[in-house]
Amino acid sequence: MNVILLGPPGVGKGTQGVLLAEGKSWKHMATGDILRANRREGTPLGQEAQKYMDAGELVPDHLIVAMVKDTLASLPQEQGVVFDGFPRTVPQAESLDGALSELDRGVDRVVVLEADGEVLVKRIAGRRSCPECGSVFNVYMNPPAREGVCDKCGSELVHRADDNPDTVRNRLNVYREQTEPLIRFYEDREGVLARIPGEGSVEEIQRGIWEVLE
Ligand code: AMP
Repeated sequence: MNVILLGPPGVGKGTQGVLLAEGKSWKHMATGDILRANRREGTPLGQEAQKYMDAGELVPDHLIVAMVKDTLASLPQEQGVVFDGFPRTVPQAESLDGALSELDRGVDRVVVLEADGEVLVKRIAGRRSCPECGSVFNVYMNPPAREGVCDKCGSELVHRADDNPDTVRNRLNVYREQTEPLIRFYEDREGVLARIPGEGSVEEIQRGIWEVLE
């Protein structure tokens, strides 16, 4: 299965992506996490991506597509994938179709998580992320067992630099303008797209996703 999680920043794609990948033993392909790892390691890709990420803009399509293709090519044929934060533009979605079909794969399901702007801004304010394993917590709604420490791998949690209010506002605009058109793109394919309210608890949303995938 190749499943895409689509939705605005802060709606819970990261949290649900980690849970889904774990539950199904799929690869969690989170392009934001891969970019942040590249930045930490100071790779040329990480250095190039930095200015876009800090401004809440999208990193150019050709860089993202090359990165995703590399990762896809390294996976065993039968390995399921959950895409989180990719594709984010129509050209990325078209490139993904091409890359998947070369590997005898296709997009099986697109799950859209939906929530309104106010909820997202609040969620992002409380978000704490694990830079090592990609786990996401929220100090109000889904706190880690020990403050500031990742439950899963014990690393120190961070408040992402691009989670500040100004950058978040821009990321939401970028989502509406460049990523939301993907809903129409996938809606035109019969039986592929499903919408799930992203405002419930982690467990409720998780249950919704599993039902859709069955
Ligand atoms: P995320 O962790 O998904 O919120 O992504 C954080 C930032 O990484 C975004 O604001 C973009 O600057 C960049 N980014 C992640 N995924 C993509 C993508 N598919 N296309 C372009 N930029 C991306």
